Amino acid sequence: MTNRTVPTPTAGEPAGILLELPASVVEVLGLPALEDLRDDQAHGRNCVWCSDGPLTVAASVDLGEQTSPLSSTTPSAPMRWFPRACRPCIGRRAYGALLDHAPGCKEGCRTSALGCEIGRTLNRLVREGRR
Ligand SMILES: [Zn+2]
Ligand SMILES: [Zn+2]
Repeated sequence: MTNRTVPTPTAGEPAGILLELPASVVEVLGLPALEDLRDDQAHGRNCVWCSDGPLTVAASVDLGEQTSPLSSTTPSAPMRWFPRACRPCIGRRAYGALLDHAPGCKEGCRTSALGCEIGRTLNRLVREGRR
């Protein structure tokens, strides 16, 4: 994973029920490898983790546009894909990611109740998963 351009989130632009997730948060959530996914998962019709679907907008969380090579073992052109997740999965993944992230965070998760941007977003996703 080098040379990946991270799009700057545009502030104040509502994207459905959830704000668009920052790339840094998607990274700590840990997406599966593109080559392991079925077509409907890569296109966001089904959950990227449990392949449940088809997902409705209200029952899913948009993980944003990703660019990955189609294969990690052979050289291949990067492909754009659009993963989405169901609420139970995003809640579970966010909870796990928060436990991993917070103890090593240097930007406020240990020193303030609010936490850093990643910590705050993960907390919000944990709540989303409980709905
Ligand atoms: Zn799922
Ligand atoms: Zn943090």
